[in-house]
Amino acid sequence: MAKKKALVTGILGQDGAYLTKLLVERGYEVYGAARRSASWNSWRLRDVDVERHVKFEYFDLLEYENMRRLIDRLRPDEVYNLAAQSFVGSSFEQPLYTADADAMGVLRLLEVCRGVDKAIRFYQASSSEMYGGVSPVALNETTPFHPRSPYAVAKAFGHHATVNYRESYGMHACAGILFNHESPLRGREFVTRKITATLAEMKAGAPTTLRLGNLDAKRDWGFAGDYVEAIHMMVCAETADDYVIATGQTRSVREFVLAAAAALGFELDWSGSGVDEKARDRRTGKVLVEISPEFFRPAEVHTLLGDSSKARRELGWSPKVDFDGLVTMMARADYDRVKAGQQLM
Ligand code: NDP
Ligand code: GDP
Repeated sequence: MAKKKALVTGILGQDGAYLTKLLVERGYEVYGAARRSASWNSWRLRDVDVERHVKFEYFDLLEYENMRRLIDRLRPDEVYNLAAQSFVGSSFEQPLYTADADAMGVLRLLEVCRGVDKAIRFYQASSSEMYGGVSPVALNETTPFHPRSPYAVAKAFGHHATVNYRESYGMHACAGILFNHESPLRGREFVTRKITATLAEMKAGAPTTLRLGNLDAKRDWGFAGDYVEAIHMMVCAETADDYVIATGQTRSVREFVLAAAAALGFELDWSGSGVDEKARDRRTGKVLVEISPEFFRPAEVHTLLGDSSKARRELGWSPKVDFDGLVTMMARADYDRVKAGQQLM
């Protein structure tokens, strides 16, 4: 039997690496859609040892004709749209680009799939940021969106476009509303990896300080390796639908710092409040963590907590890695890299 063909956009990102590993293990022919760059960076695919299995194709979410030619030539069975300007913080600085990539880029891809072959199964990487963190209860597929950043506004458009193409043209188009998911492959601009990478460097003696913004923001953090399983389940399901993927536990940035510090053998003494809050190393008195207002956002999403009972019930999905397991995995991976003399990416 011919291998199934999957086209993965954003393949050089965190989820691209874990999803590619899963697809290769399940016998897929994987095409990796990536932007041309003067400094090609495929370290995540190398980290999970799958780069050699990928057939790379140049692709940009902003370039319609290139996308159309690519999908017409490859005729993939499945398209996973993971590509995006994915950092909320940058979206306040680059709102127009973010909208072009994260909103219009989805519509371009949907339009191409509709034109080339409506039977192509389509996955859209929707985000819990669309909810805006204004509701104290666990969020599910019926909770209204209240986007609070240009990123979230654009993702909400991409989400609705995906639902609309499913309803209008009968396409197998599904959107996973994924809550924050992290791993040793997460970009360093995201708070979890920033914490584990910087603390690991400090543990190895680097003269640096971990400078953070809002320590009280809460997220429902899961492990990316678990979340790509859910993505594949959605695409393989008989009927396309939208699913919240989350652990059902929410923790603050402060709790993440404490857990990562403990995993690396630091004991923290906190003092001060607001922008003057600091955490010192109990043994040396050195300031390890301080607040820097440059990391505050114009509008903050204070709390995210997901209710993934629909995915658990209909797809049979559940997460395997819990909060403590995730933090320990990330802290140890970063410390091992530093000890091995690697520059942390
Ligand atoms: P990453 O930022 O790690 O990866 C995103 C990828 O998209 C990068 O490889 C990037 O390319 C690529 N990309 C960015 N802009 C373009 C463009 N214009 N054309 C083509 N490719 C582009 O994100 P994740 O892997 O963490 O997330 C995957 C998807 O899931 C994203 O859409 C994200 O918004 C969404 N999501 C993620 C969550 C999370 O917690 N991780 C939560 C909910 C949704 P390059 O390498 O060249 O920069
Ligand atoms: P997001 O949920 O997609 O925005 O993921 P991030 O990891 O970027 O941010 C998660 C939360 O951590 C947000 O509420 C941020 O305001 C908060 N945060 C606090 N300090 C920092 C920081 O230094 N960097 C980042 N990226 N976020 C921070």
